[in-house]
Amino acid sequence: MLVNPSLILGLIHNIALLLATSLLFDFFWTQQEGEQQFWNKIFTGIFMGVIGVVLMLTPWVLVPGLVFDTRSILLGISGLFFGPVPTFIAILITGVYRLFLGGDGQWMGLAVIISSGTIGLLWRRFRPGWNQKRRIAELYVLGLVIHVAMLVCTLLLPVGSVEYTVRTIALPVLIIYPLGTLLLGLLMFSRSHHWKIKRELFQSEEKFRQMFENSEAVMMLVDPESGRLVEANHAAARFYGYSIEELTRKNVQEINTLSPDEAIEVRRKALSSESTCFVIQHQLANREIRTVEIHSSPITFQGQTVLFSIIHDISERKLAEDALIEAKEKAEESDKLKSAFLATMSHELRTPLNAIIGFSSVMEEENDPVEMKQYAGIINSSGNHLLSIIESIFDVALLQSGEYKVNKTQFSVEDFFQPLIDYANVEKIKRNKDHLDVIAIFPHGIKPPIIHSDRGKLMQLMTNLLNNAIKYTKQGRIEFGFSVHDRDITFYVSDTGIGIPASIVDIIFDQFRQGDENHTRVHDGVGLGLAICKEIACLLNGKIWLETSENEGSTFHCTLYDVLVEENHPEQSVSGLLNPINLTGKTILVVDDMEENIYLLKKFLHSTRATLLDANSGESAIRQIMENPGIDLVYMDIKMPGMDGYEAIHELLKIRPGLDIIAQTAHAVKGVKEKIKEAGCIGYISKPIKREEIYRGLADLFGS
Ligand code: ADP
Repeated sequence: MLVNPSLILGLIHNIALLLATSLLFDFFWTQQEGEQQFWNKIFTGIFMGVIGVVLMLTPWVLVPGLVFDTRSILLGISGLFFGPVPTFIAILITGVYRLFLGGDGQWMGLAVIISSGTIGLLWRRFRPGWNQKRRIAELYVLGLVIHVAMLVCTLLLPVGSVEYTVRTIALPVLIIYPLGTLLLGLLMFSRSHHWKIKRELFQSEEKFRQMFENSEAVMMLVDPESGRLVEANHAAARFYGYSIEELTRKNVQEINTLSPDEAIEVRRKALSSESTCFVIQHQLANREIRTVEIHSSPITFQGQTVLFSIIHDISERKLAEDALIEAKEKAEESDKLKSAFLATMSHELRTPLNAIIGFSSVMEEENDPVEMKQYAGIINSSGNHLLSIIESIFDVALLQSGEYKVNKTQFSVEDFFQPLIDYANVEKIKRNKDHLDVIAIFPHGIKPPIIHSDRGKLMQLMTNLLNNAIKYTKQGRIEFGFSVHDRDITFYVSDTGIGIPASIVDIIFDQFRQGDENHTRVHDGVGLGLAICKEIACLLNGKIWLETSENEGSTFHCTLYDVLVEENHPEQSVSGLLNPINLTGKTILVVDDMEENIYLLKKFLHSTRATLLDANSGESAIRQIMENPGIDLVYMDIKMPGMDGYEAIHELLKIRPGLDIIAQTAHAVKGVKEKIKEAGCIGYISKPIKREEIYRGLADLFGS
């Protein structure tokens, strides 16, 4: 038999030992981090050397002193995989041990050790791509080369045993050893490949961990199944106000405000990447609710699929966004309102203007005094209507800017109601609604109280409410009255009119808002009445509200707080004084740059029988004062070209200190009243001038 079976068995046994030991090595190898470290190389070399020695301990003995084992495979593979340092150490250890064993084969054995390691190293150096494509062939050829060299090394045996040895071992060595090299090489390759992947994974996990822990962004890893918080970083701990340990004991369910079903759905979407961004609300440790934007996607971490979530606190951004949306909606709304407002205004202003312009032109051709009087009446009431619209606009502006000074007096509610009844009756007639019953109710058994408030403003509020009640009621009755509670009084005006739909109750107190904002609206008005009422109620330390039911009617209430007074000495109300005072012997100078204004004022003053002079400028007024020392009173227009009213007043008072001057002003805007007073005027009248106002002022001045 050409091949000795015990030789084959011995070699197989030795190869098995080699492979098993290499697994042991693999165990150590994979525990080490960083193949390149010097000490690691030393350790590897020693380990390989020790395996070599172990192999040599279980050899197949050809003749005493001539032994065969698989150290050639081990050293070749060591050269190929681990490079010079470990291989030299392994060569050294195994070489020394072989010399220690001695015998005929010691030089051959040493030569095999050196040649195997060197061939492995050369292979590594000159065929670096051996493991890329034809790995199996490369390893097999490497095995062949190493073991051909081994056969060559038999030349170092004593001359007589060379031939015998070569004949005995050549075939098994060339068949089994290359296969052993191939097997060990493949095993080492697969382990080192596995190790490389593991190391890369470890490094990438390490990088991830560092990024995760040191990031300023709030990050968490969530178990997609249970919702348990697997990991949380420092930023998360700072944000939520829990420690990392506390957080990792929690379930996301404990920090979000979603229902369990919603939370499961969010995790499902994130896991399937159906959606990766969610805006939800999270609760912090201090119970504060924050709006957060979560970017969540699945990753593999430590072999487990988790949801990697980055959490941004967008509460401020959300608030700003909401404010922007609200502002945009408001802008759109106000755009719509603007059109409605312009249409209303245009209609409301044109209607009286139409009457004024139309009837004044008709008057020019009219000779019949009765007709003339009727036209004059229409022009007057249209003018007053126009004035009331303009006054409303100024009123809201002044009330809202805090310009209005409250002028509180004590007055009796009973006295206060009488003019309201008169007003309502006149309005009824004006609106052709004589059939409406308007009733003032005094609560039973209560003496109408005395209150301390601004009578004029309260009157304006109540007349607005009464006006609306009459306007929006076709039939039925209108009732107004009051009730008392402690020191508070609540006035009310109720009607059986069209009522207000619940959907617009909230807006009707806003300026320019009306129940019907269509072009087809049937009622007049510019939508300022209730806005004025609300401002007045506020100004008088009160509130206004309503109860209403569509098609059944409305009741507006206005409570004034802390206005009831015990003492019963109301100030006398000044009744409308239409008869002018007799000023025979007095001289009045009217100063205005507009001729028609001079004409109108002189017309009103005519019936006082005073001597009337006029001037159309400041300069002309000064001349007249110097020429005419008998002037008792001056009506001075404030806004004039050239020398304005203030300058003229200043000059006049220099010439005639103590001269009575009443200013005429278009409207009492911010600071004008104070300025007029400072200039030295005894009072002012506002345009359009009202006859009653003039007469009342003159009575105050010259009354006694
Ligand atoms: P307007 O000039 O339109 O009357 P207001 O500010 O006085 O303006 O009232 C606002 C809106 O409130 C009205 O357009 C109307 O729709 C509603 N309203 C006010 N008072 C009443 C009332 N007594 N009955 C029904 N609707 C009313």
